[in-house]
Amino acid sequence: MLLNEHLKNPLFGKVAAAAAGLNVPVYVVGGYVRDIFLDRPSKDIDFVVVGDGVEVASRFASALRGHHKVNIFRNFGTAMVNCDDFQLEFVGARRESYRPESRKPEIEHGTLEDDQNRRDFTINALAISLNKDDYGTLIDPFGGLSDLENKLIRTPLEPDITFSDDPLRMMRAIRFATQLGFTILPETMNSISSNCERIRIVSGERISEELNKIILADKPSVGFRLLDEAGLLGIIFPQFMALKGAETKDGKGHKDNFYHTLEVLDRIAPNTNDLWLRWAALLHDIGKPATRRFSAETGWTFHGHEVKGSRMVPQIFRQLRLPLNEKMKYVQKLVFLHLRPIVLSEEEVTDSAIRRLLFEAGDDIDDLMTLCEADITSKNPEKVRLFLRNFKLVRIKLRETEEKDRLRNWQPPVSGEMIMKVFGLPPGREVGILKTAIREAILDGKLENNFDQAYRFMLDEGARMGLNAVNEQV
Ligand code: ATP
Ligand code: MG
Repeated sequence: MLLNEHLKNPLFGKVAAAAAGLNVPVYVVGGYVRDIFLDRPSKDIDFVVVGDGVEVASRFASALRGHHKVNIFRNFGTAMVNCDDFQLEFVGARRESYRPESRKPEIEHGTLEDDQNRRDFTINALAISLNKDDYGTLIDPFGGLSDLENKLIRTPLEPDITFSDDPLRMMRAIRFATQLGFTILPETMNSISSNCERIRIVSGERISEELNKIILADKPSVGFRLLDEAGLLGIIFPQFMALKGAETKDGKGHKDNFYHTLEVLDRIAPNTNDLWLRWAALLHDIGKPATRRFSAETGWTFHGHEVKGSRMVPQIFRQLRLPLNEKMKYVQKLVFLHLRPIVLSEEEVTDSAIRRLLFEAGDDIDDLMTLCEADITSKNPEKVRLFLRNFKLVRIKLRETEEKDRLRNWQPPVSGEMIMKVFGLPPGREVGILKTAIREAILDGKLENNFDQAYRFMLDEGARMGLNAVNEQV
């Protein structure tokens, strides 16, 4: 859609009227303007007012029909209004000056030009006038439009100033390059490399916010390669850097797990937009460096890397300020189980192995299969075909077994309370032994997953343990 089409949205007229009423100039700026030219419709619109942004926001909101709340952030001099699906943010034009130890600037009132100067990239510094004299005119002091056409990320000022002022911009440069498929200008990239240590003054939350956007891009490997090239990855995520390298000993090599993991991440991207499943892909082999061993007979091995890896997840989540909740547990679980479907597909697929996998993976079984399919990065097309075919068989078997045995969200068919009642037992070891025996018998396929069979089995097992059924329930 063309610029003029976008400006037909009545919102812009109303904002223009509110600013004109206060006799202050107003402009649309930043991401929204960039995304018009990239044809990526966006719902966040930023306005710069050469004057008091909060006043314009209030006047705009009170002129709307219905009640519209203005959220004011006095500290930042900004105000937000939600209107027709759009989130509008108003800010006074500012000029910023930075101190070396902080990314929080001193702020003064400034001109539109000051405000464009403090923006991170030329493509993010475009403004559109909403003022009577030049309504709809694009104000592009740094050649942002031509950088959009040439797909370039470039800072408006000297890059060392832009990045040293606010080092988060280094992450943003790489994130935009990844999301938009743009190239970072060599001069800009060099400056990121020489300022990479400055990332240490940025909070973990802000870093992982950008990292997550990289992970959610169509081809996340682009971002990770750039982070590595810039020297940022080793600072923000050293465990991931440790995956790098393919050593050869006695003529035996192993694959480079850094590039392997990036390939897995790219391979899973078309199949899921779930951030946490993508994190599981990123971390599936994270335990490999710590478990790597070499012996003359077996060559390189990584025994137990899935266990080690899943144990490393909490520390990594803490360090990157990711949530320490059920999302983390989910990632741990997938890392822990990621070899299981492969083992299954290599051997003859027994019903009992399928039942155990269903039982352990529960509702995450489909995600686990998606992860494992992405994990096949062999260069040998014959091998890939074979693996994928076996995984298809595993998926079919999983479906059949689930229909028959319903193990995904397994609940014991005979409860602990019932066991206690039948045998007149207090809570304790014996109850646990009986419960486990029932579960194992079901998973082994000796019993069907239903009450009648489980109950009868419980009576037999109890008798074998010398317990008396004092209170039969059926
Ligand atoms: P997206 O919304 O897709 O993340 P965006 O460019 O809109 O991209 P926002 O964080 O919404 O990013 O910021 C809006 C605008 O504010 C940017 O386009 C840019 O002009 C400016 N901006 C944001 N963060 C910074 C920063 N750290 N340094 C300089 N300018 C920034
Ligand atoms: Mg935005």
